[in-house]
Amino acid sequence: MKRLTKEEALDLIRNADLKELGKMASERKKELHPKGVTTFVVDRNINYTNICWVDCKFCAFYRHEKDEDAYVLSFDEIDAKIDELLEIGGTQILFQGGVHPKLKIEWYEDLVEHIHTKYPTITIHGFSSIEIDFIARVSRISVQEVLARLKAKGLASIPGAGAEILSDKVRDIIAPKKIDSDVWIDIHRQAHKLGIMSTATMMYGTVETDEDIIDHLEMVRSLQDETGGFRAFIMWSFQSDNTELLRQIPDMEKPSSNRYLRLLAVARLYLDNVPNIQSSWVTQGPYIGQMALKFGANDLGSTMMEENVVSSAGAGFTMAKDEMVHLIRDVGEHPAIRNTAYEILERF
Ligand code: SF4
Repeated sequence: MKRLTKEEALDLIRNADLKELGKMASERKKELHPKGVTTFVVDRNINYTNICWVDCKFCAFYRHEKDEDAYVLSFDEIDAKIDELLEIGGTQILFQGGVHPKLKIEWYEDLVEHIHTKYPTITIHGFSSIEIDFIARVSRISVQEVLARLKAKGLASIPGAGAEILSDKVRDIIAPKKIDSDVWIDIHRQAHKLGIMSTATMMYGTVETDEDIIDHLEMVRSLQDETGGFRAFIMWSFQSDNTELLRQIPDMEKPSSNRYLRLLAVARLYLDNVPNIQSSWVTQGPYIGQMALKFGANDLGSTMMEENVVSSAGAGFTMAKDEMVHLIRDVGEHPAIRNTAYEILERF
């Protein structure tokens, strides 16, 4: 398939017939995944702290150190969560905080080493580029050193969180203290060069334009051309409940399911070098999550034992393994459990 230009992608977002777009994305998905296997991972989110100084206006999860319900999980509390995950056959923890203002590299090294030593079968998919950037700054070392030291202790993969929209004019409005888009890209570049694979994400539905969305996809595609280090792309819509952004812009419209499916299909077509596209049933609900499989997604994400960040902002769906299997079969595809590297572990 010929690579889409920015202009063509923009035209598809604005003018394409939704059904046609789904067909095009499904054809592209079939080229990449001809056996009709749709995967998911059994994992759990562990938000090791909710203390964060970044104060993103779209976030309802963070607390400041002095808040009554601020927390940093102890190693024992983290262990208890991993024990529960092992009981259901899980293989991955999505490990993310807030961006704690005081914790330095040594604390993170101890933590990663502790988990990796005690639970060698668990893959640590952890620390967004925002956290990595701040660990470097507060510890007065380079980002490269943070990544190398955490990798040496057992960090396997980093999540794409914190990308939101890779446009500084959007970031300046919704998350003015967050790292700039080129810093986000560069941290993933450095991780990939060290052999740490990652995922790319996009949160849309705030103040961005269609052009900003295309620019975001272009930055992801371009880094992927350079490094090949993104395993997957995951996008979701802004979840507005309890957020500062909604207080500031109360008439902000919730993005529709149509918009989600449309953007997902365009992402599948534009990101011709990213093998896996996840459906975000956590934010869109099981039905649209399932529909996404007809719009280019080949992965249903996670069974989500625990999800704090998005649920703080109103997305409260949880889905067990059986339901994932059912949803995948229901659209005529073959369900399979995967690991972080998208290798098949179990078929149904
Ligand atoms: S989205 Fe992340 S970085 Fe931003 S305030 Fe919430 S926890 Fe902090």
